[in-house]
Amino acid sequence: MGGYHPTVRILVLGAGFGGLELVSRLSAEFGDGVDVVLIDQSDGFVFGFSKLDVMFGRALPSAVWHPYRDLAKPGVRFVQSTARSIDPASKRVVTDVGTFDADIMVVALGADLHPSDTPGLIEGGHEFYTVEGAFALRDVVARFEGGRVIVAVTSTPFKCPPAPSETALMMDDYLTGRGLRGRSQISLVMPLGMPIPPSPAASDALLRAFAERGIDWHPEQLVRELNPVRKVAMLSDGSHMPYDLFLGVPVHRAPSVVEESGLTVDGWIPVDPLTLETQFPDVYAVGDVTSVGTPKAGVFAEGQAAVVADRIIALVRGTTRSAQYGGRGMCYLEFGRDQVARVDVTFASGENPTGGFDGPSLALAADKVEFGTSRIQRWFDRVR
Ligand SMILES: Cc1cc2nc3c(=O)[nH]c(=O)nc-3n(C[C@H](O)[C@H](O)[C@H](O)COP(=O)(O)OP(=O)(O)OC[C@H]3O[C@@H](n4cnc5c(N)ncnc54)[C@H](O)[C@@H]3O)c2cc1C
Repeated sequence: MGGYHPTVRILVLGAGFGGLELVSRLSAEFGDGVDVVLIDQSDGFVFGFSKLDVMFGRALPSAVWHPYRDLAKPGVRFVQSTARSIDPASKRVVTDVGTFDADIMVVALGADLHPSDTPGLIEGGHEFYTVEGAFALRDVVARFEGGRVIVAVTSTPFKCPPAPSETALMMDDYLTGRGLRGRSQISLVMPLGMPIPPSPAASDALLRAFAERGIDWHPEQLVRELNPVRKVAMLSDGSHMPYDLFLGVPVHRAPSVVEESGLTVDGWIPVDPLTLETQFPDVYAVGDVTSVGTPKAGVFAEGQAAVVADRIIALVRGTTRSAQYGGRGMCYLEFGRDQVARVDVTFASGENPTGGFDGPSLALAADKVEFGTSRIQRWFDRVR
């Protein structure tokens, strides 16, 4: 084990998509042979897509909440606490329950969400990106009697670029099912020129679905502010849009503990796109907290964690560290009407992204369920 502690101490910050995949792989490889500490401030994990299921009444909050107390992986100790300071040079992290020192550290703390950064959003609208926001919307949409709905992005970058399009399509389904679609209007405000720029085929299919279902598409715009009294959204081009129900994607930033650690440049952690190494030796970063060049989505965080796991395994075993990140991610896309499509895109460093598109179909809806079930089984060692 070279210059490492007799039992290598690996500190993983964040038990989201990236952190859970990483510790699962390390535990499968080493069992008790390494000392892995996994720190998260939350007491459970929720898939991003489950937030939409809860919001539209397709799942109960309790069914999509996966408590960390169920984590029982050899060699892995879960600590529920908030990281207050990170020193990447000494690999020391101070939390509310004590200080942790590591030989190898992986930062997987995701992106923090700031609804209060958009004037009027909290007073006059709703956000559907936090667990609390999406779960609270369940009652709000159930009580909605129809009217003008805006689904909008308030700043860039934002997680899961397809999620606002999925939300507009699911809203169309929901209102249709409740007999309210005839007296409702759905507008989708997105900063992008196309719904999913790296996949023209997926974008075309979405634009066709919007046109068929009467969803108004407003590209290359952000909602900067809401007037909660007049119920009007102010767009980045200076125009105004009235609404009865506003569903927003809030401002994203790296957690403040990361910003204060000296790890970030322009707000996010730069990493080597092939190895996920930061500028600090034996400190890696994966997922939404990085500026690695892939979209902020769970599948990319997972793929990056797999590479970091391989590299840590090689480091500990003293073998060649050859695993490299290829930038591939496969996302499922809710199309409404119980159908799901699949986008498979590769973001190779320095090249234009390329990818394929399948569906939408009922078969892919079943594949998406299997995608979630297999992760829960792998991460929590149980069947959902
Ligand atoms: C509505 C919606 C739908 C989505 N749909 C999809 C989808 O279909 N497919 C897909 O791939 N992705 C989807 N995503 C995106 C996906 O959820 C994220 O990109 C993914 O979770 C990122 O993984 P991560 O490991 O980088 O961070 P996260 O999963 O966000 O994990 C970060 C963890 O760090 C913890 N943390 C943060 N700060 C601290 C601190 N100071 N101390 C301790 N712990 C801390 C948090 O509690 C959190 O558990 C969706 C997101 C949303 C909002």
